[in-house]
Parts: sequence; structure tokens; C-alpha cells
Amino acid sequence: MNRNQRPLTSRQLRALEKGQIHEHIDCSPDPLFMLKRQYERGFDKVKPKLPSTVVKNWRDAQALRTGTKSEQNLELAAELERKAARTYQRWLARFASKSLANYVQAIRDHILPLMQTSTDLYEVTRKRIADAVEDGHIFLELRFAPQLHTMEGLTLDQVMAAVNKAVNQAPIPVRLIVCALRHENDKQFVPHNPVHELAALTLKYEEVGVFDLAADEGAYPGVLDWFMPAAVQVQEGGKLVDCHLWEVNDDTSQDRRRLAALYPFLSGLERRRLSSLMKKVAARCAAFSQAKTAEQRLALLDQIDGLLDQAEALIHKSGRVGHGIRGKSQGTYVLEVCPTSNVVTGQVKSFDQHPIGELLRAGKLVTINTDGTLFTQIDLTKEYDKLQKQHKFTLAEFYVCNRIALAASSFSPAVKASIKAKLAAGYRKQLSSKR
Ligand SMILES: [Zn+2]
Repeated sequence: MNRNQRPLTSRQLRALEKGQIHEHIDCSPDPLFMLKRQYERGFDKVKPKLPSTVVKNWRDAQALRTGTKSEQNLELAAELERKAARTYQRWLARFASKSLANYVQAIRDHILPLMQTSTDLYEVTRKRIADAVEDGHIFLELRFAPQLHTMEGLTLDQVMAAVNKAVNQAPIPVRLIVCALRHENDKQFVPHNPVHELAALTLKYEEVGVFDLAADEGAYPGVLDWFMPAAVQVQEGGKLVDCHLWEVNDDTSQDRRRLAALYPFLSGLERRRLSSLMKKVAARCAAFSQAKTAEQRLALLDQIDGLLDQAEALIHKSGRVGHGIRGKSQGTYVLEVCPTSNVVTGQVKSFDQHPIGELLRAGKLVTINTDGTLFTQIDLTKEYDKLQKQHKFTLAEFYVCNRIALAASSFSPAVKASIKAKLAAGYRKQLSSKR
């Protein structure tokens, strides 16, 4: 594909090998599962109140299920349930996107109560991974805050066991990210900051590869002081650190200093080398978008591959930033960009005004992620489709974003090598096929 060519079809995009490193499990539960569990718990307990059409369709479906169990009735019931789930998702997404307070309320009242038992946690994670596979993922890092799932008595280890079970059964490589939350040092909300327990969980479980700082950047901005010692502890234990930043706030000189302290693993010389390699990648991508023949495009992809091979060890040590779309301090940090989510949460006015294309073409380390699937009402395939249509992303650029995500991820070298081979084969096949 070049920028003058037809975009890929949804089917081709869905089949395209891809992965992501920034999605929150608690922003991605399946709406059908949610309604089923809300019904079992009692619709009257749900706040804000469910729309009456959702309740009616769901109750009608249950009446069909308890009546004559003909095949036709069961099919009709399933259809009514799917319809109710779609309406529920749209309604919840609309409610959540009205304000940050609504967004938090939707998670607190509609999602977290459904993620408090081992069975529910396992089921939400299992379903999310199954959907990701359908969506063409060949690798996935999922994040969550285990401490939010202990409200009905589970211990942190029980929470981990339930989520780990789903991860270990996954048909694709999946790793977990444990999140500390920005308000957790505020005694007004949390009597005891669990940051060190969370760092210990990250080190304890093989399934976890990364430790992150998440939640309200508006109220608690920057790389927080109290996160630093726990982050260092995780890094000394051989695992990675991540930090949500520049989603809501612009960059400050303090952010730059703190990030440099958080990610000290590359020398100035190495950062310059990485930057220069990525600029060369961007130049090859620009040439790719103008190439006339499949042979030229394949040759450029080979060159891009070679440059990324030289960059990957540097990318891995460079440091990760969740979002990273504001300000001008992106440097050589890996940016976990979530375009649709940024629009849904009101951080960017519209999808076509998102800076993702600009950042990538300036040689920044861009990765493409969903953040969540429930409120955004998207998956990675739809995200790619919007990017190719509204930001003229090419196949080469999708490839580059995937290689960066993979290099930055916490998978073992052997797993990375096998994913890399799949990516390379998949994109070459797509380029060689006549379209
Ligand atoms: Zn996030």
C-alpha cells in the first residue's frame, strides 16, 4: 500500500499481525458479560440506573430462556441479549465521556463490582484475550491495578492467581503490567499506600513484566516522588517500569529530570544514536509511501527492518511513557499512544487532530494501543482503520509501530524473536499479495 493506494479492507486489517502494550483490563470488559453479571446481582443495584430498553430486552431474553426451549427461542434470546449489550455499551460510553468524574464513576460503579471474585476476574481477562486474538493480536501486554479487586475479600495473591490463570491459558504471548495509582499516597482516599506490595507482586510473578504509575494525572501530575524507590526496586529485580504521562498535562522541566532519573539506562550518545536510527526509519517510511512497485516497497521494508534490528536493544532500555502525546519532551522514550481513547477522554478534540502521525514521522518511538475497548468502542483493527484513513498510515508505519512495541515489551528474547518472525512474514506477505 502507498499513500496513493487503496486502504486495506477491514478484513485485511483484522488479519494483519499486530500487538499492543497499553490496555487496561478494567476498561475492557465485555458488555455482554457485564450485563449477565449485573442481572445476577440485581439490576436495581446498578447506579446510575440502566436504560429501560436495556432492562426490557434483557428480561425478555431471560423469559424466552426459561420458557419453551426451542432452538428458535434460544436464538432470539441470544439476539436480544446482544442487542441489550450493544445499547448498554453505547450508553455507558456516552455517560463516561461527559466528564472525568463520570468516567471514574462508570469504572467504580459499573465495572469494578464485577471484578471482585476469582471467577469474574478470570472470565473478564480470558474474554479480553480471546477478543484480542480475533482482532489479530499476536502479542499483548495487559495492565491492571490488583489492589482494586480486593473489595470483597480476595487477597492480592488470589487476584493475581485468577488473572495469571487466564494469561497462562492464552493462545498468544501475554504479559501483565501492575499499576500503582496516583492518588494512593493521598491519605484522604487511601490510608496505606500499597506501592511496595505492588512492586513486590511485580517481582514475585513470572506473568508480570512491568510496573506502572496510572490514574489521575490532572490531580497528581508528573513522575511522583513516592513511585521512584519502588520503581528502582522493580528495575533492580530485572523487570521494566512504565509511567503514564503527558496524557493530560504538558511537559515540565521537572518531568524531564524525573524521567531521566527513572530511565538512566542509555547514555547521551546512545540516545543520539537511537534518535538518528529512528529518523532514518521515518525517511524510509516516507519513501515507502511514494514507492510505485511492490519490489520497491519490499526493498524499503528490508531496510526498515535492518535499522530496527540495530535500534531494538536501545528501544528496550529507553524507557516507556503511557500516552506521551503532549509537550515536546518525547525524545527517545517509547510512547504508548492511544488515539481514540485520547479523543473519548477529551484530551484531543478530534481523531484527525491527534498528533500521532506527526510524532511518528518526526522519528519518535510511537506504538499504537487502545487503552480500553469498552468506552472507546473500538478494537485495534478499527484503530488501524481510522489511522490509515485519517492519518494516512501505511503498512510500513504499522509495521514500525509493532516492532517498537515489541522491542519495548517485557517478553523474553526467545518469545520476542518468534513474534518478530511472524510480524516480518505477515507484512511481507501482505505487501507481496496482489491487491
Ligand atoms: Zn492507560
